[in-house]
Amino acid sequence: MPNQLNVLFLAAEADPFVKIGGLGDVAGSLPHALRALGKVDVRLCLPFHGAIQRQAYDLHRVATFNIPHVNGSIRAEALATEIYDLPVYLIAGTPIPADAPVYSSDNLTDGHKFTFFSLAALELMRQLEWKPDLIHANDWHTAPALYELSINRDSFFLNAVRLLGLHNLPYLGVGAEPALKGFGLEPAYGSSLPTWAQDKPLPLGLLSADHIVAASPSYAREILLPEQGSGLHEFLASRADSISGILNGVDTEKWNPETDPDIPVNYIAEQVHKRQGNKQILLDEFELDPDPQNILLVMISRLDPQKGVDLVPEAMRQIAGLPWQLIILGTGATFLEDEVRQLEAEFPERVRTAIRFDSVLSHRMYAGADVLMIPSRYEPCGLTQMIAMRYGCVPVARATGGLRDTIKDLDRSKNGSGFLFKQATSISLAGALNRAVLAFQDKPKWRALQAEGMKQDFSWRRFARQYFRLYQKLIYTKTKNELAEIQKNQRSSLKTRQ
Ligand code: ADP
Repeated sequence: MPNQLNVLFLAAEADPFVKIGGLGDVAGSLPHALRALGKVDVRLCLPFHGAIQRQAYDLHRVATFNIPHVNGSIRAEALATEIYDLPVYLIAGTPIPADAPVYSSDNLTDGHKFTFFSLAALELMRQLEWKPDLIHANDWHTAPALYELSINRDSFFLNAVRLLGLHNLPYLGVGAEPALKGFGLEPAYGSSLPTWAQDKPLPLGLLSADHIVAASPSYAREILLPEQGSGLHEFLASRADSISGILNGVDTEKWNPETDPDIPVNYIAEQVHKRQGNKQILLDEFELDPDPQNILLVMISRLDPQKGVDLVPEAMRQIAGLPWQLIILGTGATFLEDEVRQLEAEFPERVRTAIRFDSVLSHRMYAGADVLMIPSRYEPCGLTQMIAMRYGCVPVARATGGLRDTIKDLDRSKNGSGFLFKQATSISLAGALNRAVLAFQDKPKWRALQAEGMKQDFSWRRFARQYFRLYQKLIYTKTKNELAEIQKNQRSSLKTRQ
């Protein structure tokens, strides 16, 4: 076992270089948190997207090489920089055009870009003669790197553990199949994948990974079942021993009510009463009744069917007799934007909507609202519930994925930190909201809920330690297995000579 582990981290996006979604948060935080442990030489590799090219980084070229393609090899250039001691490699080449967005609406174009990137990242390691003990790829975009390693058993990478981070299973990379073929990655005919999945990038990554890490322990179990398995549940169940879940952390500096510059009144857990000031300002801003007896519910979410937004209107009707107010901040699917606008029209006295992405407002909402609603149909990890708890805003959420792993239901735990409901139905959501409204009347009970949420540790440091332990275990097991294999081969060659 080496003293320091070499880990190559591959992602389509990473904050602060470029961030589109949750993967950008993970790839922007986890490598730093791992490095801070002092035992992992982790290096991040990203495509040199146009959005990164337009920023001013101190870059130097470290290698140029060709990546084979059926239409003629494609030149790749690798640039290097550092961010807070983290070495970062950026891959450039014609499949990663300066004027293209990080993700297009066409998976074939993206497949060409990310397969080129995945293969170039591997080739760069050979050029630099930097041998990773583990390659941590993420989602469908970089899954081709793991597939390439499993079919072309190159001695340079022989001991490298292949790890796949799974942040959202339904994104299989459908449409990218010809792009993989173009780079010589033929379908895995005759493999244990269902036939329809044998040429798709994410399934190929799931097939070739030594280990799969889902974004929460519950999500790791849920993807083994038909409801959330995206047609791969049987295949995944056959690999259950190689699947685990680790939660994502929260950026605890950015999301800190004590120092947050975006909220009117800062506070610590012992001063949770100060939140009242933030609530009043929020109610004022949205011209809502200032009576503090009303429970202020909020949603801060992409307006997407995944998030269960459509369950909200009927649930609110069902609890119309209770003293609640609601502010929804979100943007996304037009039909859901229309639904929440209709809800505002139906309850003009107590519902407000802000149909936009507004980071500063989201901070004020976490700091002033009593409850954050998260009725997700599925939630691989989820960040909003963890942020809310840090701010003393109590989550009411569906018991799924990371929501189930991070929220303790008040009625099922003596240290409750929120309210969970089982079914993805309006009735079930209304039941949980009803419980929250009742608990809100009992101030000591409510304070205890807030205190429990605020003392949770959702830091990246905690989850980076879990990743480190997993990396160690996988590297140890792989080295042991490789040694056993070598010894077995030596014994059989001795026998044939005798
Ligand atoms: P997902 O990545 O599936 O959208 P997460 O819960 O993991 O959901 O993360 C969502 C992040 O985006 C949180 O930081 C949340 O505060 C933020 N967010 C979502 N919608 C908005 C919005 N309309 N305005 C501001 N921030 C938002």
